[in-house]
Amino acid sequence: MRKKYYLGIDWGGTYIKAGIVNGSGQILAKETFVSETLRDKPVFIEKICSFAADFKKFHIEGIGIGAPGIVDVQKGFIYYLPNVPGWEKYPLAGTLEKKLGISVTVDNDANVFALAETRLGSARGAERVIFLTLGTGVGGAVIFGGKLLEGKISALELGHVPLSLKGKPCGCGGSGCVETFLGNKYLIASYRSLKKDNEKKLEVKDIYKKALGGEKEALFVWREFSTALGKFLAGMVNVFSPEVIVLGGGVSGAFKIFKPWVFAEIKRQAMWPQVTNLKLVRAKLKDAGIVGAALLAKEKINLSKIRR
Ligand SMILES: [Zn+2]
Repeated sequence: MRKKYYLGIDWGGTYIKAGIVNGSGQILAKETFVSETLRDKPVFIEKICSFAADFKKFHIEGIGIGAPGIVDVQKGFIYYLPNVPGWEKYPLAGTLEKKLGISVTVDNDANVFALAETRLGSARGAERVIFLTLGTGVGGAVIFGGKLLEGKISALELGHVPLSLKGKPCGCGGSGCVETFLGNKYLIASYRSLKKDNEKKLEVKDIYKKALGGEKEALFVWREFSTALGKFLAGMVNVFSPEVIVLGGGVSGAFKIFKPWVFAEIKRQAMWPQVTNLKLVRAKLKDAGIVGAALLAKEKINLSKIRR
């Protein structure tokens, strides 16, 4: 039988990465594009088609795309991408399928990352996983019964679950969302208000380093962060009873400092039988976006074969 390959596309804010992946999730070839240069839809489509054509020698059975926004996963239809203007209501899967004659699957990027980490990464083999990406925004996904938990619309917007009655306004239009406690700009703002200074360049990793050095204000920021994250995750634990919680994204770089506090908070708040065997880990795959998108395509194709 001919070996099967998949094209996985990780659509990030800065870079779009495409890779040819085999059925076991190994990347055989990859290319990185600057996202800005593919903002135009025809250019994007053209680039993906020419990338697929370059690897004609592989039998590409399916294409998977992890898109940064809200997607109709059944149709591969993009409703909108918050940080990519001009991509409203676009039939991405349909357009590519027509051009290439290959099955195309589109999902939200957090779902794609979660799938990769569950099949090959930190949560390998787990049946129930909560996955959070901690960065500028807070994205999330749930694996339940070994599969992505999703309906018609891709997004399990875990970052926009409200955590406070009188919270700060959030980018989503609501207020008091989890993201307003954990998102990177909120951490920086909170640190600045404590220090009463406005250092021009300040990143979350600087607050992490200062906390490691024992600075009081930086430690306070991570304490607050940990309480909010722990409370939120305790809620997720009570609802989904996960075996593993995986944290990814830039802010998870501070995992070492916040892990014990977050775990202690989960233990305080969640129902104890749910916490007994719970693991809290960092995401570990390097190219989870590419691999997860490819696995998404593979699993969708296999599922449709079973149903046929
Ligand atoms: Zn929100």
